[in-house]
Amino acid sequence: MTIALYPGSFDPIHYGHIDIARRAAKLFDTLIWAAFDRPLKNLMFNTDERLALMREAVQDIPNIEVVSYGGLTVEYARKRGVQVMVRGLRVTYDFEIEYQTALTNRQLAEDIDTVCLMTSLKYAFVSSSILKEVAFNGGMIIHMVPPFVENALRTRLAQLGEDRGDKIKMVSLQE
Ligand code: ADP
Repeated sequence: MTIALYPGSFDPIHYGHIDIARRAAKLFDTLIWAAFDRPLKNLMFNTDERLALMREAVQDIPNIEVVSYGGLTVEYARKRGVQVMVRGLRVTYDFEIEYQTALTNRQLAEDIDTVCLMTSLKYAFVSSSILKEVAFNGGMIIHMVPPFVENALRTRLAQLGEDRGDKIKMVSLQE
């Protein structure tokens, strides 16, 4: 039985992430889709909010477990008996980062391998930071996220109101 872990910030999820999670769930017996609870970058959604969106996106897939975790990803992977780490690849820039991360993780846990799935072409240019930027500036994001994520984003932007700052990426709502 192969257990895979798909870790990331997912702040918030978009169609690119959901596509990778769904495809990985077909390849492995169990997919643990895990939101890192305290990434170094600023967050727009807290852990519970990110998890709720992830759960809604894959509620029809029984072999995906949505969780949050803290600390080293490989430590969490070991604790859960994970054999494979799943990551998504968009453009060449992703490759360099993923390659470095995979080698670092291999050094920390040589029994855990990384499998990168190529993005589906239509999601190649979707990223959490771009979609937040577009939403912030009033642009359409329906081709990037499901309606429930769009609603969550619009609600958060409305909550931030006038104090939301010049750029959405400057917003810090870290727990
Ligand atoms: P990070 O893990 O750097 O915080 P994210 O949470 O945004 O970044 O992404 C988690 C994983 O999903 C990473 O492997 C990333 O490359 C992948 N990913 C992000 N956007 C896409 C996309 N549009 N298509 C496929 N994979 C993606």
